[in-house]
Amino acid sequence: MTQPSVLVTGASGYIGSHTCVCLLQNGWHVIGIDNFSNSSPNVIRRIEQIAQRSMSFHLADIRDSSAISELCRQQNITAVIHFAGLKSVSESVSKPLDYFDNNVCGSVTLLRVLQQEGVRQLVFSSSATVYGEPNTVPVTEDAPTSATNPYGRSKLIVEQMLSDLIQADPTWRIATLRYFNPVGAHESGLIGEDPRDIPNNLMPFIAQVAVGRRHELRVFGDDYPTIDGSGVRDYIHVMDLARGHLAALHRLSTHAGSFTVNLGTGRGISVLQAVAAFEQASGHTIPTRRVARRSGDIATCYASPARAAALLGWQAEYDLDKMCTDHWRWQRNNPDGY
Ligand code: NAD
Ligand code: UDP
Repeated sequence: MTQPSVLVTGASGYIGSHTCVCLLQNGWHVIGIDNFSNSSPNVIRRIEQIAQRSMSFHLADIRDSSAISELCRQQNITAVIHFAGLKSVSESVSKPLDYFDNNVCGSVTLLRVLQQEGVRQLVFSSSATVYGEPNTVPVTEDAPTSATNPYGRSKLIVEQMLSDLIQADPTWRIATLRYFNPVGAHESGLIGEDPRDIPNNLMPFIAQVAVGRRHELRVFGDDYPTIDGSGVRDYIHVMDLARGHLAALHRLSTHAGSFTVNLGTGRGISVLQAVAAFEQASGHTIPTRRVARRSGDIATCYASPARAAALLGWQAEYDLDKMCTDHWRWQRNNPDGY
């Protein structure tokens, strides 16, 4: 009998790599797959270097059902953490079919294989984007959902599909994790977020300004009804997020049924507050320019983390200073990424 294993799709990506470190350090046998469409093969060696353990890695696409089937047959996989997918809101607007193919069809293919192979525990990467423009904050999991772009729609469709699957076959145990704004890096500085193009997200953009790759940060909007007029979000350290996946796996292995939880800190931080914290952590001034609001952006979004605490015994531990310090160490040590 082989050791129980977890299959991680998108294992070499930003959140996947940090979660693999956590899994290995907590005794899991990890089987990772990725097609490297948004990551580097170098990541795997670095995960193993940090964890001081090896993982099994396979270059594969989640849409390749025979490759996934074969893995399930070779290994004693008990659960899957499904990170693989495309994640850029702006790209999803110009290439909607790529997003539906990868995120929706890819998930259908993966789920079909798991169904056939008898794997019934799944952790799915969803996003706070499914709340659209929340009516109230902090946002609880019962808040209405909506999508304003193809990326968000792809997440919502998969969430709905999972809910239908659970109805049809209650032996499935599915954790849907709605992430708020993941930032930071492992404190070793060996792994972190490595955007291929100009970053869309705030923290990687600030980090590239600090390291000299970009000359200024454009602050999108200064007239929101927030503490200083800039947008407010719930930034969460990627290692806290990674621990949330372990807590979800533990819950699935010990309790029947499925659940949806927010993974956030419950604290709202403005763009200007994030800039000030990054300047403090890095010792670099971040030149900023106030520009018009970015289309589709909302004023304020932060999580109620109460359900995650009650159900998983999980809460975020790291503060904004730690997020910026760790993000900066990664960026400074790897100015051009992997
Ligand atoms: P990422 O792009 O760094 O990682 C995703 C990984 O999946 C990449 O390594 C990519 O090469 C791989 N991949 C993509 N399509 C694939 C396919 N068809 N087959 C195999 N591998 C494939 O992104 P991330 O930030 O680590 O995000 C992980 C998940 O979390 C995604 O599903 C994303 O939508 C979701 N999410 C991310 C954020 C965020 O801000 N980073 C927020 C909410 C939700
Ligand atoms: N933001 C900004 N300049 C940038 C990128 C982002 O001012 O170059 C702001 C954005 O308007 C929002 C916040 O930073 O208020 C977080 O944006 P991000 O894209 O990281 O997350 P999301 O909006 O998807 O929650």
